[in-house]
Amino acid sequence: VPLNSAPEQRLDLVTGQWVVLAADRLHRPQEFQDPVPQAWTDSCAFCAGREDETTPTVASYPRPAAHAPSAWQVRVVSNLYPAFTPRTAQSTRSVVGGELDGTRSQPSEGQHEVIIESPTHRRFLTELTVAEVELVFEAYRDRWCTIGREGRYAYAVIFKNSGRDAGMSREHLHSQLVALPHVPPVARLELDGAQRFLAQHRMCVYCHLYDELLGDDSRWVGQTDEIVAFCPYASRVAYEVWLMPKRHQAHFEQTSDAQLRETSLLIWQILRRLETCLGPTAYNYVIHSNPFDSTGQDHYHWHIEILPRTGRLAGLEWGTGVLINTVPPEAAARQLRDMA
Ligand SMILES: [Zn+2]
Ligand SMILES: [Zn+2]
Ligand SMILES: [Zn+2]
Repeated sequence: VPLNSAPEQRLDLVTGQWVVLAADRLHRPQEFQDPVPQAWTDSCAFCAGREDETTPTVASYPRPAAHAPSAWQVRVVSNLYPAFTPRTAQSTRSVVGGELDGTRSQPSEGQHEVIIESPTHRRFLTELTVAEVELVFEAYRDRWCTIGREGRYAYAVIFKNSGRDAGMSREHLHSQLVALPHVPPVARLELDGAQRFLAQHRMCVYCHLYDELLGDDSRWVGQTDEIVAFCPYASRVAYEVWLMPKRHQAHFEQTSDAQLRETSLLIWQILRRLETCLGPTAYNYVIHSNPFDSTGQDHYHWHIEILPRTGRLAGLEWGTGVLINTVPPEAAARQLRDMA
């Protein structure tokens, strides 16, 4: 077995962050496989029929078919253990402590919701049919639109923690939505990067990434008419995959029904292929979209980042902030593409 090339640093064109690609021969995909996680239980408070055990329903989405096993297919509730609590008419955003105090604090304001993605006790998105995943994405879009219309928050993000290593604390299939009064740091980094690219090159950086994919298909994973999936050049983790619309679109909540359908199909297919490649691996996915009030900043381009948790953040990552990826995205993409 020949020794692989020396570690390489790759630049994320959007954020300006460098990622170390160390395609180490010791890190082979099969080493990622964990034993199939046992189900913790077969019923829980997220299951249909136990609605009174959760916080009240914020929104619910019925299954179109008449023979549905329950009144809802997707249900949204507030997080019982929120990291953010809603701003009320009485609450004032007061900062405690002056500029020189090492003990400054302020209320953690925001909206923290849980999107329960199946009425029966399912654990993985790939256990749903594509039609059921579509309903999940319709719920995402609907909550995003509603919170945007209410106008209380600046920004929203939806994410899924799948598997214990990805931070999942309840096994019943769900995602979380967080709406915040400010734009959080990761989004700020991407927005600023996209703004900088626009100022320098007069085009959207994500549209530019898509143009590059058209010329070089080595990181291409899959596509539909409207949506493309690929492994980013500066993948931060092994088998990182991004999905985004081919045509420029800043806001996730403005997706058409067709785009939503195609996104659901593509993400379902890719998660299936990741499971086949890596075994039952924990992952996060995150939907990044423009802030609600986008006056003068439609240079952003919504996307979904799928981040498999094949490794752990260790001392080097915590100590330096440098991320190390051991699988070249070209190799990951080839593997995922070949399974189509
Ligand atoms: Zn359950
Ligand atoms: Zn764009
Ligand atoms: Zn992003």
